[in-house]
Amino acid sequence: MEDESTQILSIQENDDDEETFFAELAEVPIDPPAKRDTCSSCGRPVSVGLCRFFPKERIPIDSCVYIIQHPNEEKRLLRTVPILTSCLPPGKCQVIKGKRFSEKSYPELAKLCSSPNTIVLFPGPDAIDINELPVPPPSTNGHSQGYNILVMDGTWHQATSIFKANAMFQIPQQVQFTNSGSSEYTIRTQPLDSTVCTVESAAIALSVLERNPEIREILAKPLRAMCQFQMNHGAVVHHSKEYLKAHPELPQYKSWLPRKNEPSHDKS
Ligand SMILES: [Zn+2]
Repeated sequence: MEDESTQILSIQENDDDEETFFAELAEVPIDPPAKRDTCSSCGRPVSVGLCRFFPKERIPIDSCVYIIQHPNEEKRLLRTVPILTSCLPPGKCQVIKGKRFSEKSYPELAKLCSSPNTIVLFPGPDAIDINELPVPPPSTNGHSQGYNILVMDGTWHQATSIFKANAMFQIPQQVQFTNSGSSEYTIRTQPLDSTVCTVESAAIALSVLERNPEIREILAKPLRAMCQFQMNHGAVVHHSKEYLKAHPELPQYKSWLPRKNEPSHDKS
């Protein structure tokens, strides 16, 4: 019994999302207490838990990460954001869910977007490379003020529509990565070789802006483990569409070809 109540408390401490907390709480049987095999910290089944891949100490940073999350993303089992919220100090990674953000409904977010220290990670013709960003001036206590880093979380299509549909996200300096390398998040297909998942985006941005290249590796460890667990359970590597087009020898390339029964445009 004591174990069960300890577990409930630790869910509350580690999860700032009330909704999830109550959903999990609702799953706790009252009588008799059955053994639950979901980790209270990372929210994953214990056998494929990620906690042992997290750093012993949360990564100290001056920046703040704001995840703008499409509502459907939370329902996915394979989410990468819990890796960020578990590895960064409390309050340094906030998740804001929604599709439409007006100044009236989200006054604090609108204020944040107008701050000169806020950047939005999104590739495009108006984006500058992250390495071109100047160092933010130190605040009164001598520490760097750090950047407020906005990241769109969802499928590529969802992230794009959130970014484009909301005027407030057009205000901050748009930032992208050149030479970031291929995504390690191989379970989902990325549209281009150079696009990376939410946790990777934040990891690359933090390692540059915090001048600590280790951050990327620390965050890559649980991400890699998550992918490996999925592969062990039969998932296949998803190469980017760009990569597939360049590698017709791969079995996945076939998914790009018309099916045999589809009408052919050839004269035959
Ligand atoms: Zn865990």
